[in-house]
Amino acid sequence: MQPLIVAIDGPSSVGKTTASRRVARALGIPHIDTGAMYRAIGVAAVREGIDTRDAEHLEELVSRVQIEFIPGERGRILLNGEDISPLIRTPEISMAASNVSAIPAVRRSLVRLQQEMGRRSGGVLEGRDIGTKVFPETPHKFFLTARPEVRAQRRYRELLSRGTSAELGTVLAETIKRDDQDSTRSDSPLSYDESYTVLDTSDLTIDEVVRAIVNAIEASTA
Ligand code: C5P
Repeated sequence: MQPLIVAIDGPSSVGKTTASRRVARALGIPHIDTGAMYRAIGVAAVREGIDTRDAEHLEELVSRVQIEFIPGERGRILLNGEDISPLIRTPEISMAASNVSAIPAVRRSLVRLQQEMGRRSGGVLEGRDIGTKVFPETPHKFFLTARPEVRAQRRYRELLSRGTSAELGTVLAETIKRDDQDSTRSDSPLSYDESYTVLDTSDLTIDEVVRAIVNAIEASTA
């Protein structure tokens, strides 16, 4: 039997991680956070002082670093065996991840890793291009959206809850900038087509989002 693959794509701070983790738990398959992998390359580049838009050096970097995502209740991301999970959610690394993710060699390498993981054990994969590029053949594709102000509020609260100081106006500006960059790059831009179920989560609770996704999957696999 083919492993169950669920694609959950959408812009930043739309609630993908929380929803994907809970959908994965409900279905009994791993949650695979592909954004964490791009963030890990961002951390590696910043640490080595490599310009996050420098295609040549990033291609070389990605060919020699080892990225591993360990699914679990709190998924962990390893860079050369080191757990860097606590370091990846800063505004600086968000932008670095967005920059490095526009480089085709980086995408090729991480997409391969994501496909290997998914084929091995199935999974709920969250990202920007899961249903368009990583697993275009899966029938279970969801695109989450929410108004930019709602997403900025969510990210703002998340940053504060982790003790990171933030200013709402700056968070909104960064959210819009990153989405614009992710949507306009030439390799695998953030997008969806008619094969997706689109869910506007602006006025939905997380329970409602999870239920809508799980119900749709169960209805189509029954
Ligand atoms: O989802 P998250 O905000 O953690 O992703 C960080 C960045 O990684 C995104 O802004 C995007 O540029 C990139 N990304 C991507 N493709 C994915 C997942 C994330 O390009 N499948």
